[in-house]
Amino acid sequence: MRYAIVPVTPFEQNCTVFWCEKTRQAAVIDPGGDVDRILQVLANENLTLAKILVTHGHIDHAGGVAALAEKADVPIEGPHEEDRFWIDGMPQQSKMFGFPDVKSFLPTRWLKAGDKVTFGEIELDVLHCPGHTPGHVVFFHAPSKLVQVGDVLFQGSIGRTDFPRGDHATLIRSIHEQLFPLGDDVEFIPGHGPMSNFGEERRYNPFLSGKFG
Ligand SMILES: [Zn+2]
Ligand SMILES: [Zn+2]
Repeated sequence: MRYAIVPVTPFEQNCTVFWCEKTRQAAVIDPGGDVDRILQVLANENLTLAKILVTHGHIDHAGGVAALAEKADVPIEGPHEEDRFWIDGMPQQSKMFGFPDVKSFLPTRWLKAGDKVTFGEIELDVLHCPGHTPGHVVFFHAPSKLVQVGDVLFQGSIGRTDFPRGDHATLIRSIHEQLFPLGDDVEFIPGHGPMSNFGEERRYNPFLSGKFG
């Protein structure tokens, strides 16, 4: 599997394209906006969009889903149904953050822990990691030890939990019980900022380890 990161929206959200090299089928994770830029990356790599995947219902991650789905006519998978209130509230989010003309959408498939998502010959494992939002999911490609974690974990930081239905203790538990068991050598693409791996974060992330340097 190969991937490209396409920063989108004023929040520089790491929209991610995963693709199967053999079939050139691609999945776009978290098209928060700037849909034309995402389509351009697909065209440059000669990829066919097979699926839109969504980690959680925040506008910088899901604001372009309706527009991309309309253009490409592909299924939308994720997040977990617990994030339905965020997606239904897309027009209010759009007003709050000054994103114009953002439409709500209904995922083709809500995801839950243990589900698999496929495109081309690629299979991703779905993990449910609540805390930042209650329905946050992450997408793990075990063969390449790569995971897209959205706003659960960042290099040196963790997701905010001051939004409605956010919960700090739940977020910490998701990171320790869902993410870290995947292995220290697993690389992750966060929703914002640079990539890192779980070993680094387990040791040095001041929000997690309590053990510095
Ligand atoms: Zn978020
Ligand atoms: Zn975000």
